[in-house]
Amino acid sequence: MSDLLNQLAVSLASGATRVVDLTHTLDPDFPVIILPPEFGQCARFRMEEVSAYDHRGPAWKWHNISMSEHTGTHFDAPIHWISGRDIAGGAVDEIDVSAFVGPVVVIDCSTGAASDDDFELTPEIIAQWEAENGLIPAGSWVLMRTDWSKKRGADYLNMAEDGPHSPGPTPAAIELLLQRNIRGFGTETVGTDAGQGMHYTPPYPAHYLLHGAGKYGLQCLNNLDKLPATGAILIAAPLKIKGGTGSPLRVLALVTEAAK
Ligand code: MN
Repeated sequence: MSDLLNQLAVSLASGATRVVDLTHTLDPDFPVIILPPEFGQCARFRMEEVSAYDHRGPAWKWHNISMSEHTGTHFDAPIHWISGRDIAGGAVDEIDVSAFVGPVVVIDCSTGAASDDDFELTPEIIAQWEAENGLIPAGSWVLMRTDWSKKRGADYLNMAEDGPHSPGPTPAAIELLLQRNIRGFGTETVGTDAGQGMHYTPPYPAHYLLHGAGKYGLQCLNNLDKLPATGAILIAAPLKIKGGTGSPLRVLALVTEAAK
């Protein structure tokens, strides 16, 4: 074993490096995105008992499950969006597995999002973050913390007459993150874009610009308040679905006490 991996193993065993779960429980009640009724809809998680140590299988218990690729805490691949439809290797089964382990930075927007459901991540906020933490390193996951993951039920989608209201990035913010050559962008809300993201130019800028550039998305993340601004490692490996546009995930972060 290399010295580095040996040190990591020791650090994990001692608890100096902790594994933080950034995943919501897959549950039929967990909200999925709702599109206008003329469009196809994303399926919630469903679970059906096959047997439970009974006449259907006396010594075993198991379930059949079904859901959308985009249900619960999940990964968005480049081919999820029309801008990324021709990206080579843009389906979840084609992405190089090295993409699934990498550094992560967290931009804390929780104060603003607490008082403004439509709170925007802007280039100014990113510039302020970089003044405090240094430039966002190339290859980083960038997560927008809003504490939205603490909401439950109807408050999570926050639907109004004019559609959902939840925080997200402006087009200029995503352009700046692409200049930093990030790995991808993640949120605690049901999409990487704001609830009202259809009103930007381009509409849904996180999806349009990120996937058009071959970058990835993470949504419905949990526990972002347990991560440092910098210094953690994210593990987010989608299921190997042939031609898949996304996948439910178990997202883990490795966090050491030394990270600030
Ligand atoms: Mn998605």
